[in-house]
Amino acid sequence: MEISVCNPLFRTPLSLIVDDSCPVINLTHYWIHQRHKWKARHQPGVKPDRWEGNATKLKEIPQTIPADFAWEWAEWCWENGVKGKFSLIPFPAGVGRIDEGFPDFPNDEYQSWLRIYREIIWPNFDLTPEMLTHTAVMNLDSLTPTEEWEQVEWVNPPIDNRLTDYIITSMEMLNNVGIPCEGVTSPGAFGKQQEDAYSKAVLTASKEVNNNSCPFYFLWLKHDELPDIPLYHVDKEHGTAIASIVACAGDWFGGWTGYDLGNADQFITDDLTGGRLPPILDKELPCVIVGHWPGFYFNGEKSGFDVLKTVKERLDNYDPDGTKTIWMKTSEIAHYWMSRELSEITINNEQSNMIISTKFPTTNYTVVIDSQLNGLKINGVELRKVNTLRDFQRDTYLIKEKETIIAFDLEFGETTLGWN
Ligand SMILES: [Zn+2]
Repeated sequence: MEISVCNPLFRTPLSLIVDDSCPVINLTHYWIHQRHKWKARHQPGVKPDRWEGNATKLKEIPQTIPADFAWEWAEWCWENGVKGKFSLIPFPAGVGRIDEGFPDFPNDEYQSWLRIYREIIWPNFDLTPEMLTHTAVMNLDSLTPTEEWEQVEWVNPPIDNRLTDYIITSMEMLNNVGIPCEGVTSPGAFGKQQEDAYSKAVLTASKEVNNNSCPFYFLWLKHDELPDIPLYHVDKEHGTAIASIVACAGDWFGGWTGYDLGNADQFITDDLTGGRLPPILDKELPCVIVGHWPGFYFNGEKSGFDVLKTVKERLDNYDPDGTKTIWMKTSEIAHYWMSRELSEITINNEQSNMIISTKFPTTNYTVVIDSQLNGLKINGVELRKVNTLRDFQRDTYLIKEKETIIAFDLEFGETTLGWN
């Protein structure tokens, strides 16, 4: 008898990553402004590169993105079942701290933003720091900006305690407003040249601040290969690991700038065959797509948000009865991959059961057995048999030709899956 762990509920995971989001301010406005001032101080007379933003556009880029827009966007995601990760930069551009407010802006905007984050976004999206400021590296003693940049010099960060302390400070600021994070997002390529030390630092910080030994980080967007969810620093005995959530498509909404409009066709064309996503969906690999918050807002025109609506509509057309795909938070994908790869399965044919042993619990754990079985039970409790993939959900099983597919929440410790 062969058993294999397949995608959750036999469906391909979909997830939307939103970067550069923060309360009250529009990160892009401050990012370009501060970068160009830095340039004038350190490289006078040198024209900023394209990646450093266009200063002549600054007057079109508002200083704020209103809470009203966040409400509209988040409500739409909720109604349409879109899930993923949404950044909460704790001290965006050094302008205001999430746990203290934004003194130069109306307090009711700040209060509304906090409410929206907690009540409408958090149920469907992981909230992560995108390090501390997403602009200058802060001196942790004074919390004042240094001349280094998180996504420039700290692409190759110090790999001693300074890096861990930096991540701890970011996580603690979120905890100060009651939001323990499940992982972190790299601003730009933060940590990329020291990925081993960086991922270790995130794991250490996560254990220390949130007692979470299975976090994730988002650093890679890869357009040139098939996506995977690699796991690092695995310690099966202690139930410890960190997942790298690798995205496969983006940023084709409105860019990080909010003035570089993308196109839904880059993700998936109207006939559902072209674009980056269809070949990945065909292979049933996790489709994690990336956008930037200022790009959805698009300086008030909301054009990037319109691209998202089109992409979602096409993904719905690809999966009209909801049997092929499943929207997940990035932490749910991380935990699923840990369960899938780090659990032990022992088959006892004479006792008509198998034991799954894990320190990496997950929801919707789904296995396929290569024979027709009946009377499936989890720890002695019978599961419901269903006849279509459409009805297939947790605590059910489905016989499909010569296979049996079974889904249940996998809990910490030993689980017995039995049959008649
Ligand atoms: Zn970013």
